[in-house]
Amino acid sequence: MGITKLPQYDYDIIIIGGGPAGFTAGIYAARAGLKALLLEGASTVSQITITDLIENYPGIPDGINGFDLMQLFKNQALKFGLEIMTKDVLAISKSDSAAALWFVNAGDKSFRTLSIIAATGAQWRKLGIPGETEFAGKGVSYCATCDGPFYRNKEVVVVGGGDSAIQEALFLTHFASRITVIHRRDRLRAAGILQKRAFAEKKIEFVWNAGLAEVLGSDFVTGVKIKDVVSGELKLISAEGVFIFVGRLPNTGIFNTILQLDNSGYIITNDAMNTSAAGFFAAGDCRAKLFRQVVTAAGDGANAAFSAELYIGNWKGEAY
Ligand code: NAP
Repeated sequence: MGITKLPQYDYDIIIIGGGPAGFTAGIYAARAGLKALLLEGASTVSQITITDLIENYPGIPDGINGFDLMQLFKNQALKFGLEIMTKDVLAISKSDSAAALWFVNAGDKSFRTLSIIAATGAQWRKLGIPGETEFAGKGVSYCATCDGPFYRNKEVVVVGGGDSAIQEALFLTHFASRITVIHRRDRLRAAGILQKRAFAEKKIEFVWNAGLAEVLGSDFVTGVKIKDVVSGELKLISAEGVFIFVGRLPNTGIFNTILQLDNSGYIITNDAMNTSAAGFFAAGDCRAKLFRQVVTAAGDGANAAFSAELYIGNWKGEAY
């Protein structure tokens, strides 16, 4: 179904997002000889770059810092000729013509492309409780790797029971004198290996069946008010740091009028990373799926690039 004369366009693929999914898609697309541009967010950073230690990425037995791992991905993509720009994408639209080009507006630049891969990831979810916004950066944090060193010999609380909460609580043991993990249920969601380490760590204490009701302080955080979800009893815990890890929200706002999203805002794809729009693919944490790991994001990125390559070949009338 190739078309006889292709219209003018700037890129075969534009990849939006500079995390593991985006850069893997970039490596595959550029190595396949496609003209590919990756747009890294100017006002956001990939969650992976603020992760202290990744020890389950295959081929790196001693583990690696998230920022360093992303540099390796980036270097590999550059080697194959991927173009990279740091720009926030503001709008995306599609041409009405049969050529079906996509237009990507990224501030002072506008690009025409045959296909797009959305790899915009997710961001930390907020609790929305009194004091959370007021004390952001004054004791309330969503990144232990970034802020942990400020809490040397101080008492902190960590909210959440998933992999992020427990991994970050373990990281905080390098600095804080006591880490109290506050979780709304009586068991953790985190992987067994992380749970085992956390339960063995003397500095970590757990408060079960409790939610954070308020962050307290004057200039800086001095403590938190917690509420027992069973009895409703309120209790104060003194702490100078409050680290909140209660899940993530997908960065999919710019896609919500063009792609089908699930009830939580994640992009719906099939196994080949096709979205509801032709020529538009999604990969990594921004898409609806069960597991969100660096290696699964990278796998998504490779699949999305393959699918885009097939789509582009079809449009150009090339045999595959
Ligand atoms: P998550 O798995 O969704 O866990 C969120 C945690 O916050 C859960 O324990 C949840 O409680 C709790 N929570 C949610 N809303 C809450 C609220 N309003 N008040 C209090 N608690 C609340 O999120 P995540 O830990 O950020 O992980 C996200 C994904 O990244 C997961 O797929 C995870 O496996 C992956 N990840 C992997 C690693 C690793 O492999 N090393 C590290 C980090 C993240 P409930 O348990 O009661 O639902």
